[in-house]
Parts: sequence; structure tokens; C-alpha cells
Amino acid sequence: MSYFEGLPDTRTSLRGHDADGAEVWLIRGISQKLYRCPGCHRSVEIGADHVIVQTVHRAGGTDHSHWHRRCVEDGLIHEVRGLQPVSATESRRDKLEQRGRQKPGRRRRDLRRGR
Ligand SMILES: [Zn+2]
Repeated sequence: MSYFEGLPDTRTSLRGHDADGAEVWLIRGISQKLYRCPGCHRSVEIGADHVIVQTVHRAGGTDHSHWHRRCVEDGLIHEVRGLQPVSATESRRDKLEQRGRQKPGRRRRDLRRGR
């Protein structure tokens, strides 16, 4: 089962985790500048509706990358476990960076579900 179809969008992001236990957030974005998609190594054009993949590492800290929607759908999505829709307000960058500074146990509390 995949939640990805049509998601993430402006109201709903997706959250799951990778094999290392890091949180993986899939957030809809419109590119403000040219990015390089890690999936296909091609550019994500300015203004493109794409996916920001933000990782909150178990040991703390975050990083993010910009992906084509299709590259997420065809590749990355299969490596993310337990994906669930969450309200996009929970995935604002400042909130995720704050999560990256918290102790892992504190990140467990349930988030508001999207939609
Ligand atoms: Zn790509």
C-alpha cells in the first residue's frame, strides 16, 4: 500500500523512517532555485513542484534534499518504512530542525494526522 499518490501536498506531508531508524519526512515544495535530484542526478527546475526529503537523524541533526516527485515515487518511497500522512504544519523546517535537537524519545509523541 502506498500513500504517495497525490501526496505530499500543501496540506499533508508524509513521515516514515529508514533502515537506520532516522525519521524521513516527505514534504511538498516549489523550488526557488536549481537543485540536483539525488535520485537521477538531473536538475530540479526553478518553480518545479517537487519533494523535499528531510531526514531527522537518530543521533540528532537534520539534513534535506530536493527530489523529483517521480524519483521519489519510483525509488526512494520503497526505502521508507511506515509512511503516514501528517499535517504539513508539522513538517515546517524550523519544527523539524527543532526535532533534530531533541532527545529521540521525545520525538515519539504522536503527530496530528493530515487531512
Ligand atoms: Zn530525479
